[in-house]
Amino acid sequence: MAINFDEFSLRRQRLIKVMGEGVAIIPTSPELIRNRDSHYPYRFDSYFYYLSAFKEPESVLFIIAGAHPKTVLFCRDKDMEREIWDGFRYGPAGAVAEFGFDEAYSIAKLDEIAPKLLANQEKLFYSFGAETGWDLRVNSWLNHLRSQARTGTSVPDEVVDVRKHLDEMRLYKSAYEIEIMRHSSAIAAGAHQRAMKFVKPGLMEYEVEAEFLHEFYRCGAQSPAYASIVAGGRNACTLHYNLNNAKLCDGDLLLIDAGCELDGYASDITRTFPISGKFSSAQKDLYEMVLASQAAAIAKVLPDEHWNAPHEAALDVLIRGFIDFGLCKGSPEEVLESGSYRQFYMHRTGHWLGLDVHDAGEYKDKQGNWRIFKKDMALTVEPGCYVVPSDKVPKHFWNIGIRIEDDVVVTESGCEVITKGAPKTVFEIEELMQDA
Ligand code: MG
Ligand code: MG
Repeated sequence: MAINFDEFSLRRQRLIKVMGEGVAIIPTSPELIRNRDSHYPYRFDSYFYYLSAFKEPESVLFIIAGAHPKTVLFCRDKDMEREIWDGFRYGPAGAVAEFGFDEAYSIAKLDEIAPKLLANQEKLFYSFGAETGWDLRVNSWLNHLRSQARTGTSVPDEVVDVRKHLDEMRLYKSAYEIEIMRHSSAIAAGAHQRAMKFVKPGLMEYEVEAEFLHEFYRCGAQSPAYASIVAGGRNACTLHYNLNNAKLCDGDLLLIDAGCELDGYASDITRTFPISGKFSSAQKDLYEMVLASQAAAIAKVLPDEHWNAPHEAALDVLIRGFIDFGLCKGSPEEVLESGSYRQFYMHRTGHWLGLDVHDAGEYKDKQGNWRIFKKDMALTVEPGCYVVPSDKVPKHFWNIGIRIEDDVVVTESGCEVITKGAPKTVFEIEELMQDA
């Protein structure tokens, strides 16, 4: 999708309004060296990107609010020699022309100009503690200003965490963002379909991971959104398993938690399906239970419902299932109260989703109450069930790990599941795998 520069400019204007006065400093991520002169693949900082659309490293955005608001970008200079090696750079003039900043300067001039932008401002909007290199630099500018106190220059005496304001803005997705997220989700859903058709006993987990990477890049995604989890059999009970180097065995389930990043936006899908193409009856029992808990949770994602309602709905279905299948003992109330269900379901049912896979935004308000869902918030719904071998557990359930995860956006009356292209009913999965 073409970048909507007007929207990025509007976000900067909104931040100026929220700030009221003062200066905000939002740097992008540093490049990280992998070894010697090789770098890790570069990923811009999400807050910086959210306000700038600018993807080059060595950049920082200053936003000045008050009577004379302006936006100032510092970025790499045009450099014909470096561009031959590393590729195109906009340079300050290009950044102003293409991205709509009021001013832009060479990053080489940052230490000279930044103190002037900070001088005589009352408030500094900056997130101390996020990146040590930038903290030191911002402190050096502040100290420089302090050393000039006798000339009448004042130093900002109030520091506000700019991320607090940006978290709140990022929580509500625009139509443009939702469109990108739908696309990101569709690519990931297609990759899950591809995996279902591809899987058979004897393959290695990494061969399945390769199918995901192939599909992500083939469809235009820039990278996976996080390290893919491709976990056969018992490995599915390790929640963040990503060795992905075991052989897939006939009779086991395969849990895949994989999503891509498209134009900065993450998709995050988990599907669990039988390696043979056919669920055993024990697998089916637990699978249908998790699927029903997910449906109950999704039904609770709607405006004015609170953040924890989907989790509570999922837990209710899971706990009743655990009791029915002999995994937990007692009444549903007792199992909930004692927390004995945590042996089989130890994580929460979702997280905010957006530029980051675990996206910005608070889950509780200042009073400690759960956040209330509002239209255009995006999140995942991902209940699961994990059974490691134990004398106290029926043997036919051993080594079954199941998670079903979809991405949803709150609408006016409920939510839109944007990952529905990935099959998840027993019938859909078995049919797709049999046809393959
Ligand atoms: Mg996931
Ligand atoms: Mg997730």
